[in-house]
Amino acid sequence: MAEPLIFELSSPGRRGTVWPACDVPQQPLETLLPAARRAQPPRLPEVSELDVVRHFTRLSQMNYAIDTTFVPLGSCSMKYNPKVNDRIASLPGFAQLHPYQPAETCQGALEVLYRLERGLAEVTGMADCSLQPSAGAQGELTGLKIVRAYHAAQGHPRKVVLIPDSAHGTNPASAALSGYTVREIKSGRNGLVDVAALREAMHGDVACLMLTNPNTLGLFEREILQITAILHEHDALVYLDGANMNAMLGLVKPGTMGVDIIQLNLHKTFSTPHGGGGPGAGPVAVVQKLVPFLPTPRIERQGDRYVWNDRHPQSIGRVRSFYGNAGILIRAWAYLVAHGREGLVKIGRMAVMNANYLRARLAPHVELPYGRTCMHEFVASLAALKPAGVTTLDVAKRLLDYGFYAPTIYFPLIVSEAMMIEPTESESKETLDAFADALIAIIDEARRDPELVRTSPHATAVRRLDEVQAARQLDLRWQPAPGEKASR
Ligand SMILES: *Cc1c(COP(=O)(O)O)cnc(C)c1O
Repeated sequence: MAEPLIFELSSPGRRGTVWPACDVPQQPLETLLPAARRAQPPRLPEVSELDVVRHFTRLSQMNYAIDTTFVPLGSCSMKYNPKVNDRIASLPGFAQLHPYQPAETCQGALEVLYRLERGLAEVTGMADCSLQPSAGAQGELTGLKIVRAYHAAQGHPRKVVLIPDSAHGTNPASAALSGYTVREIKSGRNGLVDVAALREAMHGDVACLMLTNPNTLGLFEREILQITAILHEHDALVYLDGANMNAMLGLVKPGTMGVDIIQLNLHKTFSTPHGGGGPGAGPVAVVQKLVPFLPTPRIERQGDRYVWNDRHPQSIGRVRSFYGNAGILIRAWAYLVAHGREGLVKIGRMAVMNANYLRARLAPHVELPYGRTCMHEFVASLAALKPAGVTTLDVAKRLLDYGFYAPTIYFPLIVSEAMMIEPTESESKETLDAFADALIAIIDEARRDPELVRTSPHATAVRRLDEVQAARQLDLRWQPAPGEKASR
């Protein structure tokens, strides 16, 4: 299964394209600025078109993807990405726009973005929305800048952000990056925010609470109205991490729960492709009193025209070049209008049913520390395999041999040997059953033949990689060996 680098497939003079003869007068090289002139030709691989097609097709087949297998990655909402959305986003009127084009020449695209903002404000129950942030984490950062700007405008910027211990790691990271001190709120034994602990932690210097609901255990915060009221008593704000809105789509509007700011991960809930590092989109929606602080420029409607408006003096300003990842935004808009209000309700219900079906099928075989009915996902613990010397990581690796991508593991941190499973609404009962059967078979293997599981995966292109080294010595650039010419 080893696949050489494309540079290693290179053969001098081999070509993938034949250019027609140049039909414009050629400028002498000297007319180029010296600094813009190459001393040597670039070291590109010399390969045929067929070499390129086979190389990248083979690489793609070594990987796992939503188009080839089930990806039950908890907290990531790895749902099917409808192909029709790709078609719409690749229409020339969208795909060939230039971001610096004058607004009069791209009214249609601006209208789509404007309508998406209205749609997302409607889904979240918020007053308005900005599409600028290009990831969930950047949406959090944008939201916290809005929190800071709001309190600063009241004359007291405040210092503390409260975050439950079950939160996604990006929450404390975003708060710290925004200059806030993070105070952790312990979860109660039922996995929900301990309201008494929250009340105790409250004081006049708390800027906001960052909450995830349903939380990362897949549980709905039942005391949400009490929680948001506690914050509002102190004129503090409630930030909802809306990365995973699947369970609430069309059913619950965060605005009615007392939420002031929310980011949505379009690449999760709204089906735009993700994985492999992007691109994403993390729009931020806010209640009326925070609208003046939204990033600029804003898309606004004047009569029947759409315009960019930079003149919002209280705005936190720009958080990203241009206006977010437009191709992703158009896909999300296509998804939203294709489903409509009734379709969204069905998505939410199916996602919750699928998660509960899997949870019930696995219940006799795994420990479910927070075992009650879940929302879009649930968290199991495989700590019982520890005496056999098998960890959750081993089970996750073994799942690859069975043809499934592994669930999220070791998160949230409050569950030992955690495995976090989110099936989404896309999957059929047959797929869910096949996955449950595989996991049950592996748990059985772990008891009978732990070595088989410990040394897995056995059937993949590569075995266990050194993830620490990969993260610490990120080396993505090919260089010829010393003394070696670029193409051989
Ligand atoms: C995925 C996720 C994030 C981060 O989103 P990115 O787009 O990866 O930056 C934040 N919070 C929760 C709960 C998430 O699931």
